[in-house]
Amino acid sequence: MDNSILLISDLAFEYKLGPKIHFPNFEMKAGEHSLLLGDSGSGKSTLLNLIAGFSKPLQGEVRIQHQSIYQLQGSGRDKFRAQQIGFIFQEAHFLKNLTVMENIQLAQSLAGFETDKEAIERLLNYLQIGDKKKAFPHELSRGQLQRVAIARALINKPALLIADEPTASLDDNNTTLVLNLLLDTAQQYGSTLLIATHDKRVKDSFSNTIQLNNLQR
Ligand code: ADP
Ligand code: MG
Repeated sequence: MDNSILLISDLAFEYKLGPKIHFPNFEMKAGEHSLLLGDSGSGKSTLLNLIAGFSKPLQGEVRIQHQSIYQLQGSGRDKFRAQQIGFIFQEAHFLKNLTVMENIQLAQSLAGFETDKEAIERLLNYLQIGDKKKAFPHELSRGQLQRVAIARALINKPALLIADEPTASLDDNNTTLVLNLLLDTAQQYGSTLLIATHDKRVKDSFSNTIQLNNLQR
């Protein structure tokens, strides 16, 4: 079996009142972990949003396990994303009226899966926040919220786990913790990991890097 998880080819995006950004071609194979590097404004978030199918490109192709993401429409794309891609944003955002457990159950439902409290508990325990399952988001620290975000992104065992500056708002201790947990859990759940960062503290943990540089035309 071909083990291609992510393939980017000839990809470009243009903001209506903004820059046109060209992205380098690259491929990620199963189990590979890569860092997406580039200065602020180089297009990291734009690329991750294209990969997740949140926005459509000017040209080019994103394939996730050979499926062209833009060929899927509407709810088909939403379900594909929910099943195949875990997304961790810079600032975790959760439904504030739902507990940690309920927020993660929602991610299972959106993917069309049965909710599985035991699987969620196992993952929360692994992330050392099992005692927070009944807490509401506002009752958690940033580091704890980022771990809940990891749990939510991984609960459906996605082929691809994407994280956009996941350590930007964290102190050094939480940065190390969150990074190690990301790498450990991605490994355990069989997910391929792509992390966008300009955080120098993160660079040492990865050998594969994709550099975005001076791409604006
Ligand atoms: P990064 O995540 O690497 O900091 P972004 O992908 O957020 O970079 O932004 C890439 C470029 O696109 C920047 O020049 C930014 O100003 C511009 N940009 C981002 N979002 C918009 C938008 N909604 N409208 C117009 N320009 C945008
Ligand atoms: Mg960004």
